[in-house]
Amino acid sequence: MQFLPLIEAKRDGGTLTASSLRDIVTAYTGKAIPDYQMAAFLMAVFFRGLDRAETAALTLAMRDSGDVLRFPPDPRPLVDKHSTGGVGDKVSLPLAPLLACLGFRVPMISGRGLGITGGTLDKLESIPGFTTALGSDRLIEIVQEAGCVICGQTERMVPADKGLYALRDVTGTVASIPLIVASILSKKLAEGLDALVLDVKFGAAAFMPTLEKARELAQAMVTLGHQCGLRTRALLTPMDAPLGRAAGNWLEVKEAVACLEASSAAKDLTELVLACAAQLLVQSGRSASLETAHETATACLASGAPRRKWDQMLAAQGADLPSVYERLALDHTAPSVAEIRAATGGFVAACDARIIGEVVRALGGGRLTKDDVVNYEVGVDRLAKPGEPVTPGTVLARVHGLDASQVQAACARIAAAFLISDEPPTLGSLIREVVCP
Ligand code: URA
Repeated sequence: MQFLPLIEAKRDGGTLTASSLRDIVTAYTGKAIPDYQMAAFLMAVFFRGLDRAETAALTLAMRDSGDVLRFPPDPRPLVDKHSTGGVGDKVSLPLAPLLACLGFRVPMISGRGLGITGGTLDKLESIPGFTTALGSDRLIEIVQEAGCVICGQTERMVPADKGLYALRDVTGTVASIPLIVASILSKKLAEGLDALVLDVKFGAAAFMPTLEKARELAQAMVTLGHQCGLRTRALLTPMDAPLGRAAGNWLEVKEAVACLEASSAAKDLTELVLACAAQLLVQSGRSASLETAHETATACLASGAPRRKWDQMLAAQGADLPSVYERLALDHTAPSVAEIRAATGGFVAACDARIIGEVVRALGGGRLTKDDVVNYEVGVDRLAKPGEPVTPGTVLARVHGLDASQVQAACARIAAAFLISDEPPTLGSLIREVVCP
């Protein structure tokens, strides 16, 4: 295959055949295409787009770049959830054990941080001993035994996305609808799922800036998912403020555990976890209505079983549970911590998730280049949420960093992320729309 003419064809707005797209994916996976050429191709796709047939062909070629999981016959449906990425979005962490307790099997193949959005794998790797690198056999074994696993693509699963995902992250080519569709669905189709719920985010800190763009992305994924035999629905949720009260790898694990313990969990986090579970109960025919599904999921979370299931999943994936408990008991693990307090009273009108995401990345919690090493301890917690009343001196956020000067610089930027108003702001609902086929 000659790659250059295909790059040029896409650059000039041409349409590529399914076999060309398959050849490109095969060659890239086989390391026959260098990153610089693939980066040029991705940029051409970013600007020129892919039509429906091209997107479907790219998705299937990426799925077939590796193994497709084959689970033993079992009455428990295979389900998963995937988010397009946000700041503070740790929904997958409590959701996987909740779904396992609801009688599903959950082979959750997740990704790393992209841009300013955090990655489920980075968060989980902050857990002592936890491994996200599993072979297909072990992955299937854990799902069959524990009901859930959260891991990365194995070398043999969707290797094409592994390379492309990392390259897109550092070449400004993330926010492309066909590339996101192909990236997400190739992985989900390789899991051999029965049903999938997507959380498509829009707003200041999302790849999709507007509700309309998020709807377009959701419709593309829901339609292609169904075409490929996967029952798919999508929630459209705003990403203007961080989800929950923490952003940063270990800090988000702590918040996920709080959600499982129904202790001090942020309401929006729990609401989204329950909404995803309820959709899957309906999609898989296990609940007749969203209302009953919601009640079932709420009761299950409150029973404490998902909290125990979380420990079972952690142990199965190598976590050192005594160290995990020791760390969970610590107030903070980063060397330097400082609070930001409100200068005036009123209501939190906004907390800019983009600024929070940028600060967490600058602290070392995310990557600026493909090879950056992520710091697990840094981040922000105790975030005040839009709508909450504040008085002078109320804590708006707490910054965790490597040293005092880094933390001070971060505090100044975080303070600018907050808008305090005299009147309570009008807040929209967390789930703006559900996109069904
Ligand atoms: N999540 C993915 O898995 N891929 C994308 O391209 C964006 C978000």
